[in-house]
Amino acid sequence: PTFIRRFSSNRSTISSYTTEHSSPKGHHGHHGHDAHKPHSHSHPARTATVTDEEIADLAHKHQHSLSLADLVKHGRPPLSAEALFSSANFTLSLLPIRLAHRIQALRNLPFIVVSNPNISKIYNNYIHSLSTLLPWKHRTISDLDTEIRFTSVLAELVATHQDTIPILAKGFLECRRYISPVEVTRFLDTHLRTRIGTRLIAEQHIALHYSSLPHFDPSASPTPCPEHPSYIGVIDTALSPSAVVDSCAGFVADICELKYGIRPQWVIDGEPSTTFAFVPMHLEYIATELLKNAFRATVENTHNQGKREPVVITIAPEPPDAGPPRVTLEPPAVDKGAFKSDAIKPLDDNAPGVTIRIRDRGGGIAPEILPNIWSYSFTTFVEDEEDLMMPGGLNAISTGGSSIAGLGYGLPLSRAYAEYFGGGIAVQSLYGWGTDVYLRLKGVGKIK
Ligand code: ADP
Ligand code: MG
Repeated sequence: PTFIRRFSSNRSTISSYTTEHSSPKGHHGHHGHDAHKPHSHSHPARTATVTDEEIADLAHKHQHSLSLADLVKHGRPPLSAEALFSSANFTLSLLPIRLAHRIQALRNLPFIVVSNPNISKIYNNYIHSLSTLLPWKHRTISDLDTEIRFTSVLAELVATHQDTIPILAKGFLECRRYISPVEVTRFLDTHLRTRIGTRLIAEQHIALHYSSLPHFDPSASPTPCPEHPSYIGVIDTALSPSAVVDSCAGFVADICELKYGIRPQWVIDGEPSTTFAFVPMHLEYIATELLKNAFRATVENTHNQGKREPVVITIAPEPPDAGPPRVTLEPPAVDKGAFKSDAIKPLDDNAPGVTIRIRDRGGGIAPEILPNIWSYSFTTFVEDEEDLMMPGGLNAISTGGSSIAGLGYGLPLSRAYAEYFGGGIAVQSLYGWGTDVYLRLKGVGKIK
């Protein structure tokens, strides 16, 4: 949470972000029939456009698989001006290709799906973001003013794509008559995995910018938050999983208290002093989702005669004989047969890392439910009438991350985050008793 706040406070200062670009007229004829026709936007201050040719050219190029080594290769902040420019140019070389690949994939969805207002809003966001980057295509960033402007373009890009998940979820829910759950899961898995990398690339440069610029440009505005010596951009080289899990548990307990009037208890054991190098935002996302599931099950369990046992979170450090860290790459999205039947697939023990086990006594998962838990939008959560009466209808969608359950994205997206750098998640249910979730995260290894 602290880290996310750090970005939110930066954003307003360096970008003139508006939401005007999501014009309802913006999505006409984007399905490939009108080659060469530019996609224009109604944003008054922007004239940038993207042609189908430009998209096709970029989508043809190979999408670089991001590695943790890529994120730390520019060195520890404060970066020199040269290293900061090199980070900016590296970022610029990757992002347009990634955006074009996503645009192409969106275009390959059935036309009736892309025409849905929510899906086309996401499509337009991509077109818009690509249009803000294309003017930079043939430039090399080699002076401070340019770097500052480029960073504000990145900040706007991150802000534009902030609410993608609830919007896509709503869109696909509205389109469920036109596209099968298997196709949706296949699309979303690739889309959301690529999005993780794209955000990481942009956020890494923004963070390096903020932690470096004041050191060689005294006239630059000071870093909005005090610098943290263990950070390299968005990576915390001394991340404490117990501290992150504990703060996420507090947040999820607040949500539970609001929703059910009950505040579940939790205990952290194992080796809480463990630290490793990882992206805090990713661990925060996963821990929040897994704890929501554990707390919800704890509160809703009817087999425990009203006696609620605490959720036990065990932190197991990486084994000492784990060997040298490997360079882990963004994995290609794999077709897991629509995500069925691998609910209890054991974690790969040849891929050591920090393991966090979240154990609840919430009654476990019924055998007929188990095969579906990794599908995007599968949920057993039913909104109360009260929630449905809220403006916006679907509570989980309109309130985004602050509802206890309902989107059915928690497990599959957490797994996408965990697998991103070579970790994983395994769920072991003991039906009638409770659930163990094993989260394995591979750190970055030692960084000079
Ligand atoms: P959501 O929480 O929005 O329903 P998730 O992907 O997080 O979506 O979980 C999917 C489903 O898996 C849940 O609706 C629930 O039925 C089941 N589930 C997940 N974790 C647990 C758990 N710890 N105990 C019992 N059921 C669980
Ligand atoms: Mg959930």
